[in-house]
Amino acid sequence: MRHPLIFFLAALVAAASAQGAQASAGSSEWDASARAGYAFLERLCDDFGGRLVGSRQNRRALERLAQELSALGLKPEFQEFSMPGWERRNDSVTMLKPFKRSLRVAALSYTNPHTPFSADVVAMGNGAATDYAASGVAGKVGLLSAGTGLQTAEIAAIAKERGLRAILFINREAGGQLLTRTGSFVGKPLPIPVYSITQEEGLWMGRLLARGEPVRVDVCTTSRCVTVETANLVVRLAGRSTDKVIVGGHFDSWDLGQGAIDNGLGVAQLFALAHALRNRPLARTVEIVWFNGEEMGLWGSRHAAKMLGDDSVIAMVNLDMVGVPIGINALGDDSLVPALERFEAGRAVKLPKGVENVNWMGSDHTAYQVVGVRAVTFNAPIDRDSVRYYHDFADTIDKLPESIVVKSTAVIGDAVVALVNDPALAPFRRDAKETEALFTKFGIDQRMKATGLWPTH
Ligand SMILES: [Zn+2]
Repeated sequence: MRHPLIFFLAALVAAASAQGAQASAGSSEWDASARAGYAFLERLCDDFGGRLVGSRQNRRALERLAQELSALGLKPEFQEFSMPGWERRNDSVTMLKPFKRSLRVAALSYTNPHTPFSADVVAMGNGAATDYAASGVAGKVGLLSAGTGLQTAEIAAIAKERGLRAILFINREAGGQLLTRTGSFVGKPLPIPVYSITQEEGLWMGRLLARGEPVRVDVCTTSRCVTVETANLVVRLAGRSTDKVIVGGHFDSWDLGQGAIDNGLGVAQLFALAHALRNRPLARTVEIVWFNGEEMGLWGSRHAAKMLGDDSVIAMVNLDMVGVPIGINALGDDSLVPALERFEAGRAVKLPKGVENVNWMGSDHTAYQVVGVRAVTFNAPIDRDSVRYYHDFADTIDKLPESIVVKSTAVIGDAVVALVNDPALAPFRRDAKETEALFTKFGIDQRMKATGLWPTH
C-alpha cells in the first residue's frame, strides 16, 4: 500500500544508515537468526517471484514459509479468510496518435475487464472536481498527474460522472517505473479502468496535449476482480503468561517484481524473530503473523484483528518496510510511550531519534488500532536506491543487502523482548472514543473514513 512517510524519510537516509549501523553494533545474539531470515527470503523471492494475494505464487510461497518454519520445530497455523481480490491478466494501452506506440502500463487493482476502445486523451490534473472541465470530456481518457493526493476510487468516481472512459496515472518516479497500487480499500471494482503509466510516456503525452496536439490511445485489459481464498500464517510462542505481544508484517506484495523490499524485508525479519525466539523462555506469549492481502486493503490484518476477540494484548508491532531503525514509534498512543522509553533507556547505543509518537495510516497496524489495540513501529528509512522501486518490477532481492536485515533485526528483536518482559506493562484496549481521538489528533480521520477502514460497522 501507500506508505506516506517513505518518501519524506528517504531524505534522511544518508545520515540514518551511518547512525543505524552504529546503533546495532554489538547486538550479535540476533545475527545468526537474521542471516537465516535473509537466506529464506532469497529463496522465496527467486522461487516464487511476486506474491500477489490470491495468486498461485502467493499460496505456494506461503506454504514454503510454513514448511521452513515447521523444519525449525515451530507449529505454523494458516488463518484462512476470503476477500474481494483481483487478478492481473493482460493490460494494454497503445498510443495511436500522433503515431503508433505501445505504452508500458499496468492496471491498478480492482480494474475490471472491458471491451477494447480507442479514445482521445485529455489532461485531468490531480483528478479533483476542480482540476478539469466538467463538460466536453465525455468519452475521453484522462491523463492523471503524479502528484495527486486523492484516493484512486475517489478520482475514478468523479471521472466516471464526467463520462471519462479510463484513466492513465503518471508515475511519480522516473526511469520507466510503474507504480502498482490498490484501486480500492473496500474491494469495490473501479467504475472505470485505471492504468499506471511511466513518468516519461505520461509527461510526453502531457506536453503534446499542452500545445494542442491530439493524442489518441487504444485501451484494453482482461484483468479482473475475483473473490480470493487466502490465509495469514501465525506462529505462537507460548510465554509464562497468555498476555501477548503480536508482531506482524505483510507477506503479500505486488506482482511485477519480487516484493523484496515491500515487504520481503518484513517477512525475513519475522522469520528471524521466530528463529531466534523459538527456544527462549518468554514472560509473555509472542504471536508472529505474516498477513496476506495488505496491499489490496489490509484484508489479512483486518481479519486477524477481528478474530482477536477479547484476547489480552500488550501491543502489536508492525514491520512494513522497516529498514535500520533510527527511532521507535508509539503511533500516537501515549500509554505506550513509557515502556518504549524504558526500552530506549536500556540500550547501550541510543536510537538517534529515540522514542517518537506519531500516528499514520495505511499499513497493518491500522487494522489493530481500529479495534483498540496499541501499535508500535519503527522510524527506519531505507536507502533511496532501494526504496524508489517499491511496487515496481525492480523491487527484487538484489536491492536488499543482507546487512539491512541483520542490523534491523538486532533492534527489532531487542524491542520485542523488552515488550514481552516489561513487568510494568499490562494488556490494554482503547475504547471507541479514545480510538477516534487517535485518528483525529493526527488528522487522518477523514482519510480513514474515505478509505472505509474506520469506523467499522
Ligand atoms: Zn508494504
